[in-house]
Amino acid sequence: MTHPAQPKASHFINGEYVEDTSGTQIPVIYAATGEQIATVHAATPAIVEQALASAKAAQKEWAKMTGTERGRILRRAADIMRARNHELSVLETYDTGKPLQETLVADATSGADALEYFGGLAGSLTGEHIPMGEDWVYTMREALGLCVGIGAWNYPTQIACWKGAPALACGNSMVFKPSETTPLCALKVAEILHEAGAPAGIYNVIQGMGEVGGALVTDPRVDKVSLTGSVPTGKKVYAAAATGMKHVTMELGGKSPLIIFDDADVENAVGGAINGNFYSSGQVCSNGTRVFVQKGIKEKFLARLAERTGNAVIGDPMDEATSFGPMVTESQMNIVLGYIEKGKAEGARVVCGGARADMPGYYIQPTVFADVTDDMTIAREEIFGPVMSVLDFDTEEEVILRANDTEFGLSAGVFTNDFSRAHRVIGQLEAGSCFINSYNDAPVEAPFGGVKASGVGRENSKEAIKHFSQVKSVYVRMGDVEAAF
Ligand code: NDP
Repeated sequence: MTHPAQPKASHFINGEYVEDTSGTQIPVIYAATGEQIATVHAATPAIVEQALASAKAAQKEWAKMTGTERGRILRRAADIMRARNHELSVLETYDTGKPLQETLVADATSGADALEYFGGLAGSLTGEHIPMGEDWVYTMREALGLCVGIGAWNYPTQIACWKGAPALACGNSMVFKPSETTPLCALKVAEILHEAGAPAGIYNVIQGMGEVGGALVTDPRVDKVSLTGSVPTGKKVYAAAATGMKHVTMELGGKSPLIIFDDADVENAVGGAINGNFYSSGQVCSNGTRVFVQKGIKEKFLARLAERTGNAVIGDPMDEATSFGPMVTESQMNIVLGYIEKGKAEGARVVCGGARADMPGYYIQPTVFADVTDDMTIAREEIFGPVMSVLDFDTEEEVILRANDTEFGLSAGVFTNDFSRAHRVIGQLEAGSCFINSYNDAPVEAPFGGVKASGVGRENSKEAIKHFSQVKSVYVRMGDVEAAF
């Protein structure tokens, strides 16, 4: 019998499901059991061509609609997503292995927020009028054209919406390629957008590995590329986009600092560290994986952290009581286990976890290392798994220098009850998305993105509009034209 996660076909192009079984088979594995639950096929060159051609053809008419009309379609899609939240959350859990307890509140709901928010903004995208004596300049905010979205595997529904919603609100069309690891959810986003009234071709989804992404990025019809992925992939995609002078948004990895001062509320700081390291089994780009704890609070912090981490319910992701799921794939699990071994070998102290969980599927115990030093591999490289490194510090000046000593700059957090210190420290941290007495909140209203190697551009908020549109300026002369001859 066909598994309920099996999609109708591999791709969604020009308003309908499309199959081409000559493309390489991509098995979809359920991370909690290791069983294959679906199969899709990578896009062939013919499929890539269909997707690009139909998105290109549909865009001009879409851009001619009023923003209010486009926005109404996006808001209708948001309503459909909310109405189907349970079904979409189950699919997200099959795609990623993340527990239903999380997917019910963080995936289709976050996607719906983006559709609603950008749907609401679509009617208010205007230019300005600049008086120049009796002449004037006016500006128009125009769509970029055909945009490509390429997603990572940790938030397949959310990423498809975070890129699609602002793109479509601005009058662009989009071809979206999910990660080959999680191909299922974006197809549902496309289906729902079209059910809500998006014209055929405005939002197409095609499957494939990096080479399909590469074919999309280098196509001359494509005007913009928005990638969520690792720094090495970001560098390749950015370079490829540059040869065609295309616009880019790069949402890449991180190794973010979370700084806990002696005067912080211990329970809240522990809660922030848990949210910033163990949500989605640690597979979150903005995680605060370098937890700097001031020496005076260290033992208290570690004791409560170990106690509360012991309360994680590891198990069947479909059981709503489960609060901690598996890694997305066997290979990701092995990468993370490799880092755990490195942490032990380089002399960090295991406070809890430190091994694979004893059950089928790709589970790793939530792991806390203490006595981590700045030069250890686990403190320098992005692990993308449930591995928290706790480092000690003495002074504010010292911790700021150490926190910034990384190629990354996605996020940063500070826990303290001294508010002038909180703002002073956050002001000096090199990061794009920051938190005070909290960690990893990502509402659609707030800009999201990194500095340094963690990326360029911002998603969400009004900032995202700037990255999916361009400004045309028009000088209007009322009098005669003077010329030298
Ligand atoms: P990857 O960088 O491996 O892949 C990202 C996407 O790019 C995938 O769809 C991949 O396809 C595709 N891709 C790979 N090579 C190319 C290429 N040459 N041209 C075009 N596309 C290509 O990232 P992961 O999927 O492993 O995701 C984890 C990474 O994503 C982490 O580093 C994490 O920090 C980052 N991330 C960043 C976020 C942010 O907003 N800053 C949010 C979430 C994750 P395929 O995998 O199918 O080969």
